[in-house]
Amino acid sequence: NRRILLHSRPKGEPSAENFQLENAETPVPGEGELLLRTVYLSLDPYMRGRMSDAESYAEPVALNEVMVGSTVCRVEKSNHAEFATGDLVLSQSGWQDYDVSDGTGLIRLDPQMKHPSLALGVLGMTGFTAFMGLLDIGQPQAGDTVAVAAATGAVGSVVGQVAKLKGCRVVGVAGGSEKCEFAVQELGFDACVDHHAANFADQLTAACDKGIDVYFENVGGKVFDAVLPLLNTKARMPVCGLIAHYNDTELPPGPDRLTLLTQTILIKRLKVQGFIIFDDYGSRYNEFIETMSGWVEDQKVKFREDIVDGLENAPDAFMGMLKGKNFGKLVVRVGKG
Ligand code: NDP
Repeated sequence: NRRILLHSRPKGEPSAENFQLENAETPVPGEGELLLRTVYLSLDPYMRGRMSDAESYAEPVALNEVMVGSTVCRVEKSNHAEFATGDLVLSQSGWQDYDVSDGTGLIRLDPQMKHPSLALGVLGMTGFTAFMGLLDIGQPQAGDTVAVAAATGAVGSVVGQVAKLKGCRVVGVAGGSEKCEFAVQELGFDACVDHHAANFADQLTAACDKGIDVYFENVGGKVFDAVLPLLNTKARMPVCGLIAHYNDTELPPGPDRLTLLTQTILIKRLKVQGFIIFDDYGSRYNEFIETMSGWVEDQKVKFREDIVDGLENAPDAFMGMLKGKNFGKLVVRVGKG
């Protein structure tokens, strides 16, 4: 049973020394318990927050404990009346091969599911985040311009496609020309701007010639600096994530822009709202899954996964994601389905 532990807390960017791979005994399920074999492990930006002990909306991972994470698992052995060997479940087993559970919090998946990893992406937490953040907070109207960064990532790719289904003009921001081409050609965005380009802000201004009505905030940083002057009166801004800042150890360089932000909120009458998906919208999961399953089946919403083989490669893949190396929803294939 390989397990990846949080060995030390990163200062700034995480590095390999912050993780430790250990070989432990495979746990034995007791009465009323199940042995779960991890098939897929989801890697998500929030894990950077859990590595840190700074105050947040969730408890940090304790040192020398298994890194947290959502998993798709196969029931390998069951002493539990409601689960049988071979069942497929969504679990929070973290970065390890095996886990023992008493069934609490497990969500049963269709054991014949053609594509079980989607329960971690477009048909799971990240799809849900895109769906609720855009529709409930963003309130997109036909004809609006919707802008979203990390546009080919797990959340951004769904935000843009759902906005297209609502009749909006969609402008993506992504890292590199290959990702931008994919956003336009495969995901159907109207435009996509590369944030690595030297004249990025000018390109974004040109792409948003009628301003921005909904900015779905995934990254912060220089993308947000370029978006702020483009926001229209009564624009909505769901604040979903700020990945450009997750490794920050101090305030960003440059002049203090707080007054610029609050003035813009006032003058443009912006609606800015943060959200934490399951805390704020947990009760609406069924509404999401019914709608999104239909859209995925009808190929109205397409997905791209970046699947990495082997639990031992999880730390590298995770560190890469914080630098934009993933192309699509990042998932680790841990064991055979
Ligand atoms: P992605 O699949 O989008 O992967 C992260 C991507 O972020 C990278 O591929 C990269 O894309 C982009 N990125 C990284 N660093 C920077 C940077 N400095 N500037 C601009 N872009 C950067 O991840 P997710 O879709 O899972 O998550 C997207 C956001 O949503 C994150 O901020 C995450 O924390 C947040 N989130 C929030 C939830 C909530 O409940 N509030 C739930 C789930 C996610 P590129 O190369 O295109 O720049």
